[in-house]
Amino acid sequence: MTSPPTVRTPRAVRTPPVVRTALRICPLCEATCGLEVGLSDADGVVRIRGDRRDVWSAGYLCPKGPALKQLHEDPDRLRAPVVRRGGRLVEVGWDEAFTEAGRRLGAVVAADGREALGVYVGNPNVHNLGGQLYLKPVLKGLGIPIEKDFSTFEFLGNMGTVSLPLTAALAEEREFLRPGDRVGLLGIGSGLNCMMLGVEW
Ligand code: SF4
Repeated sequence: MTSPPTVRTPRAVRTPPVVRTALRICPLCEATCGLEVGLSDADGVVRIRGDRRDVWSAGYLCPKGPALKQLHEDPDRLRAPVVRRGGRLVEVGWDEAFTEAGRRLGAVVAADGREALGVYVGNPNVHNLGGQLYLKPVLKGLGIPIEKDFSTFEFLGNMGTVSLPLTAALAEEREFLRPGDRVGLLGIGSGLNCMMLGVEW
């Protein structure tokens, strides 16, 4: 007779005590909710909750706010720039990453002219001071006119990927998109997920 399988009870995970609270703003979207980040004595994130004293969000958070802890601790999170070498993504320093980006963009411009470059401007540039400040100089440096970004955020609001068909229809109606144009459709959810599709219009 075989003995019954041993049932193991899961070991309780000990949550370290919160010794310090850091007040931060959620960087994921333009709602800019106030965060209360509870930290352990080793500066690990113990929990994240809404800051009730935040004058704007008054304690509200969508599910992505508290999930910043998991995002922060995700072993697959990129902590340094990566470039593809021989089919593999390899971590490099920022200087090398910028040099590589310049080399590859330069090759695109040399082959097809500046018209071959496009730009997508979305979260978090619309609510990030650094993004607002440096966007124009970066575009100017690349020789990309800001009009190349056909943004509907101002009047459709943050509708995410569902705005793509509406935006494309408007762009065609206003002759921003013409038959034969090569278009990049990007759906980016606060940097947590994204989907991209290149089409010839
Ligand atoms: S992602 Fe959620 S928690 Fe963060 S700012 Fe936007 S609505 Fe607030």
